[in-house]
Amino acid sequence: MEPPEMTEEMKNWMDKAFQMAQDALDNGEVPVGCLMVHDNQIVGRGRNEVNETKNATRHAEMVATDQVIDWCKKNGKGSKEVFEDTILYVTVEPCIMCAGALRLLRILPTLQRCIIYSFDPLRTLTLFSFSLCPLPSHTFKKS
Ligand SMILES: [Zn+2]
Repeated sequence: MEPPEMTEEMKNWMDKAFQMAQDALDNGEVPVGCLMVHDNQIVGRGRNEVNETKNATRHAEMVATDQVIDWCKKNGKGSKEVFEDTILYVTVEPCIMCAGALRLLRILPTLQRCIIYSFDPLRTLTLFSFSLCPLPSHTFKKS
């Protein structure tokens, strides 16, 4: 499966993801940044916040995911539907934790909705493996 060709629009989104990565670096974090784009607008953006928060799960993708959920609440949208129609732009290939989360959120069925600037050959197998995993059949109940 080949990643899609980068259009000018995609390059612009990726530039913004790199700005997030620079912000991470400027703040003493591993320089990873990402954007989540839905309906041609940014609904989530994230950069690593692991050192600031002393929370090893605060990777760029997880930070952006929380923002998307907040955006959905503010805009009266269902997060499932929004995530299913969201494109992720991320500066490096997601780690195994984030890849698993992206799969559960249905962002990662194909590379058409997961635009990665830099592939790490050691991680690629993990990402593709997750993209092939069946999704759990349970659904979360609304509280
Ligand atoms: Zn991660």
